[in-house]
Amino acid sequence: MPKLIHVNTLPACDTCDGVARYDVKSKQGPWGYFCDPCFKVRGIGLGTGLGQELIAGAPYPNAKPVIKPTTKREIQYTLEDLHAMIDESVLDSTPCPHCHCTQRVEPDACDYTCHECGNGTVSSPLVAAGLI
Ligand SMILES: [Zn+2]
Ligand SMILES: [Zn+2]
Repeated sequence: MPKLIHVNTLPACDTCDGVARYDVKSKQGPWGYFCDPCFKVRGIGLGTGLGQELIAGAPYPNAKPVIKPTTKREIQYTLEDLHAMIDESVLDSTPCPHCHCTQRVEPDACDYTCHECGNGTVSSPLVAAGLI
C-alpha cells in the first residue's frame, strides 16, 4: 500500500476545522481524516494498515508521473478535459518524463524538447491521447 495518496482537494479534518493531511487509523480504532496536529494526537503512524498521507493536486513532482506521453493507455485526462483543450490556442503539455515540469505548448505539439532539463520531451495532451 502506498504511503501517499493523491487527492484533488484535501478533505476536512474529522475532529477539528483544519484541513486533513492524513487518512489514518486512529488510536481509538476507527479510520478518519486528520490534520497535522490531530494526526500527532490521534494517529498511530503511516504505512500498511495504519494510514496514508494525503497529497493535493497532480501526482508530481514528488512522485513518478502517471502520464507518459508515449503510452496512450495511461493518459489521465478525461475526454471532457481534452475537448475543452481543443478550443485553446496553447495548452499545458504532458509532464516531462525527466524533470516532471509542464510547459505551454500548441495543441499539435509532439515530442518537444523539455525547456527545463533538455533531456525529456513533452507533447500536447491532445497528441498524447491520440485525438489529433
Ligand atoms: Zn484536526
Ligand atoms: Zn524536463
